[in-house]
Amino acid sequence: MLKEQEMNLVTLIEEFGSDDRCRARLEKLRWPDGVECPRCDSKRIAHRKARKKARHQFQCKSCRYDFSVTSGTIFHDSHLSLWKWFLAVYLIVESKKGVSANQLKRSLGVTYKTAWYLCHRIRSALRRRSGSAPASAPAPPPPAGPAAGTTARPRPSAGR
Ligand SMILES: [Zn+2]
Repeated sequence: MLKEQEMNLVTLIEEFGSDDRCRARLEKLRWPDGVECPRCDSKRIAHRKARKKARHQFQCKSCRYDFSVTSGTIFHDSHLSLWKWFLAVYLIVESKKGVSANQLKRSLGVTYKTAWYLCHRIRSALRRRSGSAPASAPAPPPPAGPAAGTTARPRPSAGR
């Protein structure tokens, strides 16, 4: 997605340094011929501009489905700003040896938990994309806890 042309950190920030730009790019990639309903493929779409937050919601006029460009993508349901996601994707794709959650945490200024989640989600998306990984590709390291004596492991979801 980010590798159409020579991309470095500077051009990345120039092109995608705001959520609006990231969103515009995603919309172009996802719907090159205009916005389409992900549920019924209708092109009769109303553009909703929420007043409070510019959340860029769409509503399908055929089936009334509300969606945004991130619906059904790895970016969906994330509180992290879209351009940080783009940056994370860049850092992960760009790095030959792989990026640890700790590195991502430092680079993006996010919590370890967020960084771990980003790594996990982006890597599995990349794996899905490329089919089975080549044998030479290093296996993703298991999530290592933060170096300092704290035990911050993802909690098992309670009650099941
Ligand atoms: Zn629809």
